Amino acid sequence: MTVKPIDPQPTPRWPARRLEQLSYQRAWVEVDQGAIAANTRQIRQFLAPSCELMAVVKADAYGHGAVAIASTVLGAGATALGVATIPEGVRLREAGITAPILLLGSIHSPDEVQAIAHWQIQPSLSTPKQALICAEALDRLGQSLPVHLKLDTGMSRLGAPWQTAVEFLQLVHGLPSLQLASLYSHFATADSPDRAPLQQQHAAFEQAIAQIQAEGLPVPKLHIANSAATLLDSSLHYDQVRVGLALYGLYPAPHLGDRLSLYPALSVKARVTHVTTLPAGQGVSYGHRYVTQRETPIAVVGIGYADGVPRALSNQMEVLYRGQRLPQIGAITMDQMMIDISAMPQLAPGDVVTLLGRSGSEQITADDWADRANTISWEILCGFKDRLPRFAVAADWSSNQVTVRS
Ligand SMILES: *Cc1c(COP(=O)(O)O)cnc(C)c1O
Repeated sequence: MTVKPIDPQPTPRWPARRLEQLSYQRAWVEVDQGAIAANTRQIRQFLAPSCELMAVVKADAYGHGAVAIASTVLGAGATALGVATIPEGVRLREAGITAPILLLGSIHSPDEVQAIAHWQIQPSLSTPKQALICAEALDRLGQSLPVHLKLDTGMSRLGAPWQTAVEFLQLVHGLPSLQLASLYSHFATADSPDRAPLQQQHAAFEQAIAQIQAEGLPVPKLHIANSAATLLDSSLHYDQVRVGLALYGLYPAPHLGDRLSLYPALSVKARVTHVTTLPAGQGVSYGHRYVTQRETPIAVVGIGYADGVPRALSNQMEVLYRGQRLPQIGAITMDQMMIDISAMPQLAPGDVVTLLGRSGSEQITADDWADRANTISWEILCGFKDRLPRFAVAADWSSNQVTVRS
C-alpha cells in the first residue's frame, strides 16, 4: 500500500491574501515589534558590554512569530538565537537569518547532524555518545561545527552530570570536527524567592569551572542565566545570557518586576459576531455553567480555546472594549465565547474587543490569565496557534526614554 503524503500547503482556491483578510474578520494576534525592540535594548543595557544576549525564540518566539522576532531582536542588540527543535532553526535560516543559532533540544541521529551541519545550527551535547555520533557524522561530511556542552547542575533535564565536566570536555577536545563553543547549564528555580536551590546550582557550575581550570584546560564561553536569573543577579550573567520571556515583555516573577520597564508585545483581539438579550434565569453555553441573574444583553465573540484562550478561564476572564471591562460568561467553547455587555449595550457585530493587551487605561496581561488559569505566562503565550493570523503593529517606543533601574 502506498501512502500519499498530505500536501502540507494545499493550493488555495481562494487567493491567500483574501483568506488572510477573511481571518481578520474573526480574531487575530497583534505583535508590537517596537515593544520587542525596546525590551531587547533595555536587557542589552542591563548587561556588561562583554556579555552577549542570546534571544530565545523557540516555540515560534513564544507565539510571537519567530522570523519577525528574530530580525527585530538581532537589530536591537541580541547576537545569537536559541531554538528548541531543528525545524525551528531551519525556518530562521530559510528566512535568511545568519546569526548563530543554538539548538537547546537534543540530537541523537546522524540524520539530524547532517541537517544541522547543512543549516549551520549549533547543537547542545549532553552525553559522550551524542558527541561521538555528532563527530562521526561530521567527519563523514568533512565538516566541523561549533558545539555547546550542557551540564546538569540541578535542573534534572538535559546535560551531563556537572561532576563529569572535565572528562566530557576532554572527550570533545579529542574530536577535531567539534569546535567547543560553550559550556552551559540551566536553572530550575531562578524565578523563586527562595534562592537556596539556585545557589546550589550556581555553586555546582562554579565547581565544574574550577575543575576545568585545575586540569589546565581552556575555559570555554560560559552561560547559565534565563530571564529570571538575568534579572536576579549580574553574577549569573557570565559570557552570555539566554533570555526568552523578558524579551516578550513579561516578568518571570513579581519580585523581579522592578529592574526594567518591560512592555508586553502581544495583544489578542476578536470581533463580536452576534448580539442578543437573554431573559433572567437563562443558562449560557455548554453545561449552563452561567445563569443570568437578570435580563442580560450578551455578545458572542469569535475566539475560543482552539485559538489559545484556555478553557480554564471560563467565567474567570474579561475582555476590554473602549477602556471598559466586560465579563466573559459561560463555558468558553472551541471557537467562540460569550460576554456580558450590560456596561456596553451598544456593542454590535463587527466591533473588536481586546482579550489581551491595552484599551484606554485598562490592560490585561498574560500574567492575569496565568494567575486565573493556574498556569504560567510562558504557557499562555505559546498557546496562540496558527489559526490566529498575526499582524505586526508598530507602536513607536523610540521616543520613550528607556530607564534602567538597577
Ligand atoms: C526556554 C529556555 C530559556 C529561556 O527561558 P526564559 O525563562 O523564557 O527566559 C533559556 N535556556 C534554556 C535552556 C531554555 O530551554
